Amino acid sequence: MLNLARIINEHVQKLVPYQSARRIGGHGHTFLNANESPKSERYLLNSTKLNRYPECQPEELLEGYAGYAGTTRDRVLCCRGSDEAIGLIVRTFVGPEEAVLIAPPTYGMYEVAARTNNVQVVKARRNEDFSLSFDLLKEAIDHSSVKVKVVFIDSPANPLGQVFAEAELRALLEAYPQLLVVVDEAYVEFAGIEEHSRITLLPEYDNLIITRTMSKAFALAGLRLGYALGHPEVLKALLKVIDPYPISEPVAQIGAQALSSTGVSLTKERVQKCVELRERLRGELEKLKCVREVFPSQANFLLIRFGDGPAVFKALAERGIIVRSFVDKPGLDNCLRISIGSPEELDETMRTLTALDGTL
Ligand code: PMP
Repeated sequence: MLNLARIINEHVQKLVPYQSARRIGGHGHTFLNANESPKSERYLLNSTKLNRYPECQPEELLEGYAGYAGTTRDRVLCCRGSDEAIGLIVRTFVGPEEAVLIAPPTYGMYEVAARTNNVQVVKARRNEDFSLSFDLLKEAIDHSSVKVKVVFIDSPANPLGQVFAEAELRALLEAYPQLLVVVDEAYVEFAGIEEHSRITLLPEYDNLIITRTMSKAFALAGLRLGYALGHPEVLKALLKVIDPYPISEPVAQIGAQALSSTGVSLTKERVQKCVELRERLRGELEKLKCVREVFPSQANFLLIRFGDGPAVFKALAERGIIVRSFVDKPGLDNCLRISIGSPEELDETMRTLTALDGTL
């Protein structure tokens, strides 16, 4: 009989896999737990080339995304969701006795990618208001007993919803030119690209990598398409370790349609509606007695501190509304995250919470 305990890599035995919304599951009819768009668009598929292996880096996606992001195609790498970019960055740049730096609470995949690759994780503190500053990152880097090679910063942050200030980022990039700083902009469209994307800094800093995704603003979480943007030589290094065919032919076709001018205008409308709904929901939630605090958010979700988070989570789940719980995360006791779904889904959630308010 195979003795798995003896043959599974030691670091994998200890590994806690990423708890994605799909893995956690839940029975319900209204899913507001994965920051997905509430509606899918229609796309055309041409199946005449499915007998051939696809391009590793389909030209139309590189061109299309470079145009959308306002950069050049040699600064774009496409991959299987931004999750793949996170893993590639760790595998390419961080060794077993080295570390990635994260600032919890933050997106869970940074730590999982590090642990999967048997590299160390160093954690920076945040300010009282959960904002992140150069000083706190510096303190963590300088005091770490292992060498920090990569810093992961989500901006807007998940689940905190706030963006990382440009001046703080510049200070970090300048103080540590040999350290790679990854700014994860999965939600940046909801914050406003013009003002909050740091893509404009790419020509100035070789050590900056930006990750982006089609899963949120583009409403294509099921497609699995994301990007890493950075210095051409940094991307070349990532392309050494990428799988031979990360982008399937249907993914390339749908991605290109989503990046067409029609696709991009649909995305802009979708984002605008989402932001309006988010602010409406905030106003409604703030009137409830069971709500202590609605965090500022620049993303497609709200993080809410309830008087009794677990009770609200349970009450919603019993009525088929699935949100995401962060009650066991440091500093986030009683906090739940609600994705901005359709107007109907949000109305249903508010009706349910209003009916329960006072009992929770
Ligand atoms: N970064 C952040 C901050 C996220 O919240 C998520 C998904 N929840 C991702 C990256 C991964 O996105 P993708 O679907 O592109 O893998």
